[in-house]
Amino acid sequence: MDSAVARLSEVEAQLGETEELVAARELVEQRRGEVRQIQERQKSLDWDAEEVRRKALEIEGKLYGGTVKNPKELEDLQADLSSLRSQLRKREDAVLEVMLELEDAETALKEAEAALAELESAWKAEQASLTETQAALKGEIQALEAKRPRQLEGMDRAALSLYQTLRERRQGAAVAVVERGLCQGCRITLPMSILQKARSGLGLVQCVSCERILLVN
Ligand SMILES: [Zn+2]
Repeated sequence: MDSAVARLSEVEAQLGETEELVAARELVEQRRGEVRQIQERQKSLDWDAEEVRRKALEIEGKLYGGTVKNPKELEDLQADLSSLRSQLRKREDAVLEVMLELEDAETALKEAEAALAELESAWKAEQASLTETQAALKGEIQALEAKRPRQLEGMDRAALSLYQTLRERRQGAAVAVVERGLCQGCRITLPMSILQKARSGLGLVQCVSCERILLVN
């Protein structure tokens, strides 16, 4: 029963999300945020370029529309136009740069999403198997709990109380197996007299060192 309870708590400790999974999900969120940020920047740069383009068209209209005849004014318009065109080139370059940046960010996001999906599917399979093991162990423990009182019936009370005391004193292991004359609880070589007594099967025999009840196979 102790071993089933220990295994159950081990299984239950593994239920739930792993740090790896949480980190993978955070990475996806972070990269999604990066993509959104770049998209915002692209939108604003597009708008800036559009604004300059619109102004340049307006000046072109004036310059070639035939309504302005004064040479000084025409010269000024020409200067404005070439300044706007150079601004426009710079802004279009900036738009191109941010588009490349966006492509990279989108690739990185896809990679993070693929890694997360893979981790998630492995994790789900593992959780399903852990849940199955958990249910099996719970059933096992229940069956043992039901069996225990029946086995206690008619058992020597002094022996039972010794067993309980030792269990508490020795971290749950009240019984030690004897192998090749050694107590497997504390690894001491047992005296011949103790071994003979234990082998006789008459009453409980305890280890001279760790006091555990000796079990000779
Ligand atoms: Zn011992």
